[in-house]
This record gives sequence, structure tokens and C-alpha cells, in this order.
Amino acid sequence: SPFFREYLPKAPRPTALAAKLNANENPYGPSAKAREALGAAAANGNRYAWRDLMGLIDSIAELEGVTPENIITGPGSSDLLEKTAMVFFRDGGNVVSADPSYMSLIQVAKACGADWKPVPLKTDWSHDLDAMEAAIDEQTRLVYICNPNNPTGTLTPADALLKFCDRVADQVPVFVDEAYLGFLEPEARQSMVSLVAKGKNVIVARTFSKIHGMAGLRVGYAVALPETLERINAITRGGMGISGPSIAAAAASMSDEAFLAECRSLNSSVRKHVFETLQELGHQPVPSYTSFMIFPIEMEGREFLSRMTALDVGVRAFRFMDQNWCRVSMGTRAEMDLFLDAVRKTLV
Ligand code: PLP
Repeated sequence: SPFFREYLPKAPRPTALAAKLNANENPYGPSAKAREALGAAAANGNRYAWRDLMGLIDSIAELEGVTPENIITGPGSSDLLEKTAMVFFRDGGNVVSADPSYMSLIQVAKACGADWKPVPLKTDWSHDLDAMEAAIDEQTRLVYICNPNNPTGTLTPADALLKFCDRVADQVPVFVDEAYLGFLEPEARQSMVSLVAKGKNVIVARTFSKIHGMAGLRVGYAVALPETLERINAITRGGMGISGPSIAAAAASMSDEAFLAECRSLNSSVRKHVFETLQELGHQPVPSYTSFMIFPIEMEGREFLSRMTALDVGVRAFRFMDQNWCRVSMGTRAEMDLFLDAVRKTLV
């Protein structure tokens, strides 16, 4: 394929690495309050946790400024991305998205028989919204937008995106994946959720895996119109896949503003250090708004991965825009120094 692809490591993906920087996990989570809630909830493990889930949904609705009928939860946002794809593409059609972008929903759409219509990002790394709108045809079932985008870590300005979604959603539903939005400072953060509140056919996905540092606990949600959620609920029972302790941990983490602010600040100072050091080493990292960063590498991806793995550092390698790229997640400062050392040894 001429499009985005990933280099997979030769061996099964390693898990025990000195610096595991390949899955955009938050090194500081879960918060102390979330851990405490998790432990306390274990004793109720004999019960289904519907009541707790309803409480979490009420809090999410309040936070997002929508009603509980606008919320669906799942074991991670992956579950909601994948199930949305199953519902929207079970009769084929096509999905329009940026290239490169996060492939989870697109892979499932393709597995259902849909076509992917990739639209290259612009040279400023933002979504090419005009070209995406032009790519929509009568077979398009959904537009997928990841903002900030993965694997690039880049941002599409919210005002342009708001206008795009507002207009396009009258024609075809728009799915906006905001997994990394929490890494922006509150004043810089503009979610597309307000469009749902306005009655637009926009589906916004959020997760507790990133800024909340709960990737292993599996909690995510989406905000959408009740009639859209009804379609998705026809093949999944919302939060049936989330464990009670994870629900309790999410509820505790949601109100832990101090922890979230600390994660944001540590992430951005580590990111600045990595960005500047990569530049000093002669690399050209792309300015990131997230908890990961990409930079071009002059080495075949699998070779690069095996050399980095041999130095006990896990990263990802991609090919797009006729170029090989490394994507590295922001770990702790100590982990990033291991990574930077490995880069010094691996790339000249
Ligand atoms: N969306 C984006 C853009 C991601 O990068 C990820 C995970 O890396 C996910 C969704 C899925 O995360 P989770 O299923 O843990 O919520």
C-alpha cells in the first residue's frame, strides 16, 4: 500500500523493557486516589457494577455539559471505536480519514468490507479539511478525525474543525477521537462535544488511558446523539465490559484535578527536554501536543526497532510520506534519557 504502514518488530512485542515507550502510556498513573478506590472496590467484585457505572456516567455527562443519554462507556475507547465501525460499516461503504492517522476504527471498517479513503495531512500537519470534505461521496458512512492526531502528535485548529464538523455532520456522521486532548492546558483545549449538545451527528471518543494513566484498567467513553448510541448499543451493552474496580478508579481520577495537572506539566517538561535534545543530535522532531513525538529516521524500521530493543528501549516505527519515522512515548525523565542514549548509539 502506498499509504501509512507500521513496521512490526521481528519478535513478539516486548513487555519488560527498561524504557517502554511504545504504547503512549502515562508513566505517572494511576493517581493515588484511583489506586485507593480500586482497592476498596475489590470487595464488591461479586456484584455487577451497574449502579456505580450510572454514577460515573452522570459525572461524565456533567463534566461534558451533556445529558447521561449522550454517553456510552466501554472497556477503553478502543471498544467504542471498533464497535462503531462494526455498526457503521457492516454493509460496506467507505471511511474518510487523514493519512497518517490512528488506524483502529479504520482497520475494523476495512475488515467489515469498507474502503478507506485516506486524505494526506497538510504540510503544517493539520487535517486537510477541504480535501476531506471533497472526498465524501454517497458511499461514505463516517468521517474519522483524530485530534490531536496519532501517530503525529499534531493538532488541527479547533475553530476550523468545529466549522467542518458542524457542516459535514448534516451530511455524514463525524467521529472525533480526542484520546490525547487532556494533555493540552484547559484554556487551549476545545472539544467537539459542544456540537453534540447542539444536536449534531458527531461522535466524540475519550479515554481514561492517557492523561488519567489508566490504560490497563480499561475505561473509555463516547459522547453522541441518543439515536446514534442506540445503534451502537444494539451490538454492545455499553459498559458491560468494564470491571467495577475500574469504574471506581475512573470516578476517583475524574475529580483528581491536581493529579491531572501534574501529569500535564511533567509530560510537557519531559517533552521539551526530548524535543530539544533530539534537535541537538541533529534530528527534526515534529512539535507535539500529546504524550508522544515523531521524528524522521534514516534507517529501515525493523532494523531500527531491533537495535533499540537490544538497548532495552521500546518505541514504534512507521513509514509514511515516503519517509521512515520513530514514534516515542513520553516516559519519565530517566526513561527518556535511556531513550536518548539509545538514539545516540543507533542513529548517526
Ligand atoms: N484513540 C487513540 C488516538 C489512541 O492513540 C488510542 C490508544 O493508543 C486509543 C484511541 C485507544 O485507547 P484505549 O482503548 O485504551 O482507550
